[in-house]
Amino acid sequence: MKENIKINMKDPRQLLIQGCERPWEAAAEPFKVAPHVYYVGNSWVGSYLIDTGDGLILIDATMHNQVYLVLESIRKLGFNPNDIKILLLSHVHYDHCGGIRPIKEYTGAKLYMGKEDEYFLTERPDLIYTEGYAFGSFKPDEYYDDNRPITLGNMIIHTLHTPGHTPGTTSFFFDDKDEYGNVCHCGMHGGIGVNTLDDETIQKNGWPVSMREDFLNSLLKVRNMKIDIALGSHPKQTNMLEKVYKITDTFNPFNDDTVWRKLIDGRIAMIKKLMQTSNLTI
Ligand SMILES: [Zn+2]
Repeated sequence: MKENIKINMKDPRQLLIQGCERPWEAAAEPFKVAPHVYYVGNSWVGSYLIDTGDGLILIDATMHNQVYLVLESIRKLGFNPNDIKILLLSHVHYDHCGGIRPIKEYTGAKLYMGKEDEYFLTERPDLIYTEGYAFGSFKPDEYYDDNRPITLGNMIIHTLHTPGHTPGTTSFFFDDKDEYGNVCHCGMHGGIGVNTLDDETIQKNGWPVSMREDFLNSLLKVRNMKIDIALGSHPKQTNMLEKVYKITDTFNPFNDDTVWRKLIDGRIAMIKKLMQTSNLTI
């Protein structure tokens, strides 16, 4: 296995430039996260492949110029990208949605997204943060409906609208079963960055200050869920790439039910601090 290259996580602007202009520097080897779930993202942003037994589901698409890395990772794992039947998008930011159009065109997969983010595509492309890099716009085939799980093969994906990072941010929850019948609960929060909620950004976005309350409530809603395997929308959130080397035939370093709570509690603290120090009032 080639080393998963480390990148400078401190500077988002540099990560964008690197991801778009030198995507090979962000490349990461794919790896198994759960019995039927695989990491096919890069060093900066996550993408997950779910083998349902009757076709593949892909969560998030990385950036436009990184798509070849996703497809290569899928092939390296022994799967055919053309078997992707369903594309799930966490939220309409460039690092997650930049690759949606090429992957959708290539696979013909059905795209689901949060309805509340669609105006980014139609009215406010500045909120996608493409920063002038290549972007093919797209239309969803379906909006998420939290009362209607998405099913394919052996998998049932429950969605939960968790607004805050963007209005339409959606989180995913599903059970995966190993060959012995052991079930693990998998969860991915669709967007936990508070970077879109500071005073300056929230005003620029034209969002109500109550988006912060929405974000906090979203976090409180998922905080007590029992999640065995937390999938980071960015691998850094749960230090996934640092754990890859601990994988053995009998040990899965991602199966740790303390990770989810820690992640969510960290974000609750961040948003509360932001709310306390803000100069904006509702
Ligand atoms: Zn985002």
